[in-house]
Amino acid sequence: MFKLYGKRPRCLWCGKANKENYREIVITIKKATPPQEEVVVCSEKCEKAVLNSFQFVEKNIHLFFAGVILGILLALSGLIAPIIGRKVLLVSFTGMLLLGITFVIFPFVTPQTTKIFGLRNGMFLGRVSGIVFLLLGIVLILKI
Ligand SMILES: [Zn+2]
Repeated sequence: MFKLYGKRPRCLWCGKANKENYREIVITIKKATPPQEEVVVCSEKCEKAVLNSFQFVEKNIHLFFAGVILGILLALSGLIAPIIGRKVLLVSFTGMLLLGITFVIFPFVTPQTTKIFGLRNGMFLGRVSGIVFLLLGIVLILKI
């Protein structure tokens, strides 16, 4: 699931393919199927970062999904603005803020994104998109 794209092996954390000392480590994700998977890292630093990230994801995945689902539901409330009035837009844009905050704190991107960019850059992209949502939410709220 976390084998990065490319002909040569790439480090799961930094995404680099030009290192000599690659090694395979086994990571355990309790709720995944299969729960154990071999991944490639290029250094002890990258190995630590990968292990810490997966621990962080495992610990917070519920909060992440709660934030995303609640954020989307609140954001969708804007669709009924023509019926019940513009005041509901505040709720809708607050949902956008919540989505932004969720992605900044928990930048959990899809396995596909990780396979292209590596975990470090993938999470960075997750944070950037969170900041974009956050700023958009603030701008929209100020314009109500
Ligand atoms: Zn690396």
